[in-house]
This record gives sequence, C-alpha cells and structure tokens, in this order.
Amino acid sequence: MSERIYYKCINCGECCNRLLIERQGVKKGLPLFPNETNLFKKSEISPAYGLGDDPRKNDFKIFAYQMNKMICPHRKFGGCVIWSYRPAICRAYPLIPTINQNNEIIKTIDFTCTALYKLKSNFPQNNVHIDSFSIQEENENYPQITQITLKLLNNINEAWFFDLNKKKWIPFITMLVS
Ligand code: SF4
Ligand code: SF4
Repeated sequence: MSERIYYKCINCGECCNRLLIERQGVKKGLPLFPNETNLFKKSEISPAYGLGDDPRKNDFKIFAYQMNKMICPHRKFGGCVIWSYRPAICRAYPLIPTINQNNEIIKTIDFTCTALYKLKSNFPQNNVHIDSFSIQEENENYPQITQITLKLLNNINEAWFFDLNKKKWIPFITMLVS
C-alpha cells in the first residue's frame, strides 16, 4: 500500500548548502540559464553545457552555466536573500529531471530534501505517494529546466559538459548511464 504524504519545505537550507555533485569523478554545480548568471559574482559562475564539434572553435555555443560553489552565497539570515529572483532550478526543486538508461527524461523527486526524507522515514515499510498539489507537480519551472536536458539529448553527439573537477569540457555522452 502507498502512503500519501504532503510536501512542505521546512526552510532548513540543506539544499542550498550542498550544490556541488560529484559522480564518477565529474563535478557539477547548480545549473543556470544565461539570464540567471547575473544573480551571482563572475567568479562564482562557470560554463556548464555547450553544443558544437569542438569547444575550442568559435562556433561553439554555451547554452547553460553553473554556479561553482558548494554553499550558495545567497543563503543568509535563515533564508534565501534573492527569493523573488531565485533561479528556475531552485523554484522547481525538489523536482529534478534525470535521464534513464533509455535516454528518456524522468521527472524525479529528490528525497534527499530534508522535509521529504523525514516524511518518508515515517513509513519505512511502504512506498510513499506525494500529494501532487503539495509538490506543484505541474509548476512552470519544472518544464523550463527540462529544456536543458532535452537540448542535450536532442543533440547528443555534439553536446558537451564543463567538468568543474578537471576544469575542462567533456563529451556529455560520456556522462550517461550505459
Ligand atoms: S532541503 Fe527541502 S526542506 Fe530543506 S530548504 Fe531545501 S527544499 Fe526546503
Ligand atoms: S538562490 Fe536561494 S534558493 Fe537557490 S540555492 Fe541560493 S539560497 Fe538556495
């Protein structure tokens, strides 16, 4: 039987304090659209996703960036100090697009969110079902952030990611689950 739980952010700030993710040696930061980079200092921004034959060529196009710090500089005084202007990825969270083994986009709920983790741990024996209204499953920000993933999948042979570990571009296809 599935238990229904109701998501409500408890403003713990954990999701704003663990923004760098490392998998198989590749490090990623908080993804940002180009028009969101001005929310951060220049030194806090790195390129993230680009399209082209070769990142060294002039026609290489960067279409998304990433914030390169683990802790968000805007988490202060017990909250987000740019709440009304925060990036789309922050608005959509805890919904995140992930890519499955068939290279399809799956709408995923991040259960490492403290509020969800606590709610789920009340039902260790059961699958939980999150009330869709409480998590705003169809909020406008989720489809927006999937645009980055869609663009990568639709152009897979010329898509690149800028690895914050090596500080260099790597073919995006090498990051996919095989
Ligand atoms: S981890 Fe979850 S509960 Fe904590 S601030 Fe982020 S969204 Fe809210
Ligand atoms: S911009 Fe605000 S919501 Fe987004 S990570 Fe920073 S503090 Fe958190």
